[in-house]
Amino acid sequence: MTASDPSSGPVLTPIIGSLHALQVPIPYPMKTVTVLLDKPADGPVTMIDTALDTPEAHAAIEAGLHELGLGWNDVERAIITHHHPDHYGLAGLVEEHGAEIQMLDVEIGRGERYWHMWEEWLPGHLKHMRDHGLPPASTEDMAGDNRRGRDRVRPAHHVSPLREGQNVALAGRDWEVLWLPGHADGHLGLWNAEDSILIAGDAILPRISPNVGLYAYTRPDPLGDYLQTLGKLEALNPAQAVVGHYGPTMTGVQARARELRGHHHERLDFIKAEAGKEPRNAYDLSLAMFNRELNVSGRRFALAETLAHAEHLRLLGQLYRTWHEEAGVWVYHA
Ligand SMILES: [Zn+2]
Ligand SMILES: [Zn+2]
Repeated sequence: MTASDPSSGPVLTPIIGSLHALQVPIPYPMKTVTVLLDKPADGPVTMIDTALDTPEAHAAIEAGLHELGLGWNDVERAIITHHHPDHYGLAGLVEEHGAEIQMLDVEIGRGERYWHMWEEWLPGHLKHMRDHGLPPASTEDMAGDNRRGRDRVRPAHHVSPLREGQNVALAGRDWEVLWLPGHADGHLGLWNAEDSILIAGDAILPRISPNVGLYAYTRPDPLGDYLQTLGKLEALNPAQAVVGHYGPTMTGVQARARELRGHHHERLDFIKAEAGKEPRNAYDLSLAMFNRELNVSGRRFALAETLAHAEHLRLLGQLYRTWHEEAGVWVYHA
């Protein structure tokens, strides 16, 4: 039985009121991404996040829509939590069927634009990785991996901005738009204080630490952003969060936020100690921090994550960075 087989029973998990969650398959280690569907008595039919452009995802979303008596054409609005392919991938398709696509204003100006300027930005993205020590052979593999990712994304033509602090109606309730940067620059959350429920996307996850990476096109200190987001989540202390992976829901957000902060502080200590022993580029530091077999995407995440930590330390004045002319790389040192 699969999610795409309508005879396999209900595929939707009720969240609150008319809001339902769907677990859509993705070819990543997390296996599924959460797509939310809302068919309120009064108000627009809404989808939150869209999964990737794959036949499996199409089928799963169709099965979810079918269970609510809907088809693609009935979706009037899609809110995307952030620009990563597993959340944004089908935005263009939903738009073609007539829905308005909405994202946080910050994300439209940064992450979302990445998909439109992809051909122009790819060389810069790869140069950034090379400048931080990625070996030339791996750069080729990484370009191929990026291309495969791009093939599964259908960018939207027009995205309308949501702004931090604004309210949106979902499931007959008001939800406040939150800005939760770190995992993505313009990561959006939706907060309903009355029922203490947060739609969190990948801003916080059970089981895995959301990747916080410094890429060529990100804000300069994604880890600093993320540590602030964790503080925000800790203060918010939602009773329940709807999460992008390993959900659809989780409890204990406050404790998880503290745990993730502790995890990043440990990594900061590790990077500081390693770079203090001898000057090293971020790629070499990433091999020390992620000392295990990783595929090409895993290595990219490891390098970007290591870099986010090293740069955070540099911006705090706890590490320095110098261009090594001979090797053509940045090295971090005490
Ligand atoms: Zn993500
Ligand atoms: Zn995700």
